[in-house]
Amino acid sequence: MGLEKPIQYLKGVGEKRAALFEKKGIKTVRDMLYFFPRSHEDRSKIKPVAECVEGETVCIAASVYQLPLDRYVRKNMLITSMNVYDDSGMISLVWYNNKYVKKNFTENGKYVFFGKVSRSKQGRLQMIAPVYEKFGNEHYTGKIIPIYPLTAKLSQKTVQSVMETALKEAGQLEEYLPEHIREQYKLAEINFAMHNIHFPRDFKNYNIARERFVFEELLILQLALSGRKDKNSENPGHIFEDVKCVRDFSDTLPFDLTGAQKRTINEVCRDCKSGKQMNRLVQGDVGSGKTAVAAAAIYMAVKNGFQAAMMAPTEILAAQHMESLSELFEKHGIRTVLLTGSMRAKQKREVLSQILSGEAQVVIGTHALIQETVEFNNLGFVVADEQHRFGVEQRAKLLAKGKEPHMLIMSATPIPRTLALILYGDLDISIIDELPPGRKPVKTYSVPGGMRSRAYNFIYKNIKSGMQAYVVCPLVAESESSDLKNAEELAEKLAQDYPDIKVGLMHGKMKAKDKDEVMAGFASGEIQLLVATTVIEVGVNVPNANIMAIENAERFGLSQLHQLRGRVGRGGDQAHCILITDAENEVTKKRMETMCASNDGFYISEQDLKLRGPGDFFGTRQHGLPEMKIANLFEDRDILRLAQRAAKSLIEDGTDKYPLLKKRCDELLSNEIIMN
Ligand code: ADP
Ligand code: MG
Repeated sequence: MGLEKPIQYLKGVGEKRAALFEKKGIKTVRDMLYFFPRSHEDRSKIKPVAECVEGETVCIAASVYQLPLDRYVRKNMLITSMNVYDDSGMISLVWYNNKYVKKNFTENGKYVFFGKVSRSKQGRLQMIAPVYEKFGNEHYTGKIIPIYPLTAKLSQKTVQSVMETALKEAGQLEEYLPEHIREQYKLAEINFAMHNIHFPRDFKNYNIARERFVFEELLILQLALSGRKDKNSENPGHIFEDVKCVRDFSDTLPFDLTGAQKRTINEVCRDCKSGKQMNRLVQGDVGSGKTAVAAAAIYMAVKNGFQAAMMAPTEILAAQHMESLSELFEKHGIRTVLLTGSMRAKQKREVLSQILSGEAQVVIGTHALIQETVEFNNLGFVVADEQHRFGVEQRAKLLAKGKEPHMLIMSATPIPRTLALILYGDLDISIIDELPPGRKPVKTYSVPGGMRSRAYNFIYKNIKSGMQAYVVCPLVAESESSDLKNAEELAEKLAQDYPDIKVGLMHGKMKAKDKDEVMAGFASGEIQLLVATTVIEVGVNVPNANIMAIENAERFGLSQLHQLRGRVGRGGDQAHCILITDAENEVTKKRMETMCASNDGFYISEQDLKLRGPGDFFGTRQHGLPEMKIANLFEDRDILRLAQRAAKSLIEDGTDKYPLLKKRCDELLSNEIIMN
């Protein structure tokens, strides 16, 4: 059994605890071993009591001077205290509301205590709720102890002891990193690494162990990516003979293109006459004008005799593109059609036949575009808008509608260039790092819930002066229904509080048709205040909306907050974004500060990467890649580079030569699919 053994059958686990572990994605001994600690506590050295200093976290070995005393200071506040001593001095230990603690000590018994030293109101040194165990039989002290990221109900002690059992159960582990890679990059062997990542003898050993696992994780990420990349980078492609024609198009735009837009269009033109199939990612902040770039490229494709298709992730967005682009193209005699899932059968049949005959030169649509029934006449150019909403498979299907069409992928989630190169190593990248002139940054504030009514009054006044506003509520996967109610309840409450304005509600559980109706109502100005979940995140454009309030802002990632905020500030008026949160932890505070300080998506994404630590990152999870358990894509970027090099050499060598490594990759990737 070993690694495959369900942890339920390990000593000290059982059914109930197994269920709690499963919530963390831990089912087997293997899963357990790869549940890495978030930090370590040095409990290896015992300090004399007299040397304890306020603020330090230390271990002491001390005897009971007098057994614990209970006293109630209030009805629900029990304080238990006990004095202990060693050769050098005395210190008191204090527990709050812990009825059982006193049963664990005997008169004159000697124990090891681990905790933070503080000073009581009377000025005496004390430890509050220390970890303790009998002296001479230490399990949780006397060494460096791992601290795990926990869910409620599983204590550190439980996880630590189950981890020890799991390590024993696993026995000798099989090394799966190829030996020459380990040698070349000086990586620790798996058994050494596994023991020292959890129970290191010293921090030097821990760092050696960590480095191996970071490298391994990033190597596997690279290998996984190589299997998932768009496979069109080396294909021959249509040659667009006339690329200069884009000028005729840009001349008819109602604005001058920005420098960054022009540069990107030039890059597209170069690709399209190169003879190779284009595979280009355009990264640009919300509002940077990616649509105009796509439109120019589409125009060029049509003028060179091809059909072009543009796929958007939502009906609303597809409709908006249709509205703005069909008018532009019409001026040049280009016929544009819309294809979405909610169209009536008759209308759809008509559109499908126009696509097949080639009469429809530009097709804008949703996922409906990649349905089997859709056949093009001569598709030579495809655009995927808001690419983070599409998988590689969907892009592949879109590509397959034509004969090696050029592909333009547009992303409004800017990520640092270093990371983009890693995640999209096979794509050429254009960056639109300039906003159209005259845009004012969105003024952003972070306020506690106590200021909510002031915030809403501000919004109300603004609406009375003719503007519109969004209120965004979080939608969390585990508690979707209760959060939906939040949005619903809030919409109801706001409608009551401000009876003279029209409040709308939109969330993901609504039918597409109903959503469209609400959105249309908001776009026309009939709805003045729109309460919504993150369904509005993508691309929607209502220039008259200039305030957004975001409830429970701590629940959103930085990049997502930035995306949401991009919905306002699209007209000429000063826009505001109010982040409402009561969360007080450091990371949340830093995130809010970042939002208030910057409107630059590239900067924000870099901060996002920094603040997240290991874990999910929109660049990985959203691409169906394994979540980072230990690596931090920002801090470990040097190791990332090495891992990238190693991955490349392994791929060139043929990964089939390394079946154990392959197996490990598969384990990780299949885990991911189960969890999604
Ligand atoms: P995104 O990059 O987020 O998709 P859009 O393409 O929707 O941004 O553009 C946002 C708005 O900016 C649109 O109303 C568009 O007409 C306008 N716009 C785009 N380029 C320019 C420009 N060069 N000058 C002025 N306005 C522009
Ligand atoms: Mg867009």
